[in-house]
Amino acid sequence: MVDALRYAVNWLPPGKKAAVCLSIDDVHPGRSSDHYEAGGDLGKGVLGHVEWLLDRHPQLHATLFVTADWREIHPRPTRKMLAAIPGLRDHFYLAKIRPRGAMRLDRHREFVHYITSLPRTEIALHGLYHCHRGLKIPMEFQEQNCEEFTALLEEAIAIFGRAGIDYVPGICPPGWNSPPALLDAMVNVGLRFIGSARDLATPVSGHARTDMHGMNGVSLIYPQWIHDRRLLHVTSNFSCTNTIDRAFEIIEAGGLLSIKAHAVKKVFDYVADDGLDVGYRNFLDMLLMVLEEKYGDALFFTSMGEIVRRAFEDRTGPPEDV
Ligand SMILES: [Zn+2]
Repeated sequence: MVDALRYAVNWLPPGKKAAVCLSIDDVHPGRSSDHYEAGGDLGKGVLGHVEWLLDRHPQLHATLFVTADWREIHPRPTRKMLAAIPGLRDHFYLAKIRPRGAMRLDRHREFVHYITSLPRTEIALHGLYHCHRGLKIPMEFQEQNCEEFTALLEEAIAIFGRAGIDYVPGICPPGWNSPPALLDAMVNVGLRFIGSARDLATPVSGHARTDMHGMNGVSLIYPQWIHDRRLLHVTSNFSCTNTIDRAFEIIEAGGLLSIKAHAVKKVFDYVADDGLDVGYRNFLDMLLMVLEEKYGDALFFTSMGEIVRRAFEDRTGPPEDV
């Protein structure tokens, strides 16, 4: 269970009305010559869209949620017979996965150099392997205990260290799932924020709580302390399936417009709605131009890492009047 909105979070600088951030999940060194591209083609692939947006919008920041050693190939079971046997299926990978180490970041120096050289771009964690036994293949954090989660996170952080990646201390859990033992493990390894909830549908208001993917019941539009105020939660509340009116509503309510995209658009027969392709890129370009024109300096262009840094610098605010 998550805490209620118990404490004010000091995340918005004085003089700013609302904020905007952009994050991209599933970034890893996969190339178009592999099963699918997820950043490995550098500027010629999906990250070229990010670079293009950063170039056209000098205030924009990006957070890349990067997987330390991506092993998933298929997001859904292909071993159908096995997948049909309750109990037994939970003990097996229900689709082929990559060997350990093939996509490990410290073995892809050019990729690491590229992502760490992008302007106004920070890197955070998106799991160790991005796969799990059983039906929900991409959902890496499920029934494991705190010790096991801690070991997974420590290994991911060690890979980031060997790759020379200076990460911001947060995670977007693959498949959005964040059991309480994962939150304990995050604290154990020094992480400070999580983006577990994605909600693109709940009507916008200051009191709106998430009710879609991942963590339910947290604020739809404001960063919020959770887990006895040891972690900050940041909801993803906007993507290319939304209209621009939702962005206006979030900003008018003084919230954080938290835009989510995925690095991989199409995996075999699975298509991610919010995969960052040319269409989504152009939609974001238009959205950002409209926001810049309409709100000017009143809008705080920021990143999850920056919000968390500001919030943790001032954790002594009074209990929030909910
Ligand atoms: Zn993912």
